[in-house]
Amino acid sequence: MLEDVYQEVILDHYKCPRCQGVLINPDRKVDLHNPLCGDQISLTVKFSGESISQMAFTGHGCSISQAAASLMAELLVGRPKEEARRLSKLFRRMIKSEESGDALDDLGDARALEGVKRHSARIKCALLAWDCVDRALDESPESSSMREELPK
Ligand code: ZN
Repeated sequence: MLEDVYQEVILDHYKCPRCQGVLINPDRKVDLHNPLCGDQISLTVKFSGESISQMAFTGHGCSISQAAASLMAELLVGRPKEEARRLSKLFRRMIKSEESGDALDDLGDARALEGVKRHSARIKCALLAWDCVDRALDESPESSSMREELPK
């Protein structure tokens, strides 16, 4: 049923997740789970100034949720926080079918998850890791001024 979602790159990241583990003394740690599917992600992040210097996750659950976390971490490590926020919004627009084509190039291999948009039951799986990183970025003390512009 989900053959078109399980592309090669997704399976690769599921079987050999990048950035897996727990950072020592992280600046942010976020644990979230998706009760609909039983997915769980624990994300630790270290910042260097305004950039994400390190990111690691542990978790369990379906291949979509775990591959999404691996693809996301690979994409975001080394990026400025603002860029990470922009990519998170772009990924969400892709999953909600609000954006497609060349506009998604910045997502790199994470574009492999685009097929999830045709399986509404899996959307929360694909967004779980991104929900973690949004919280990690939102909880930074200097973000209080931008909190107003985040939709609730
Ligand atoms: Zn799942």
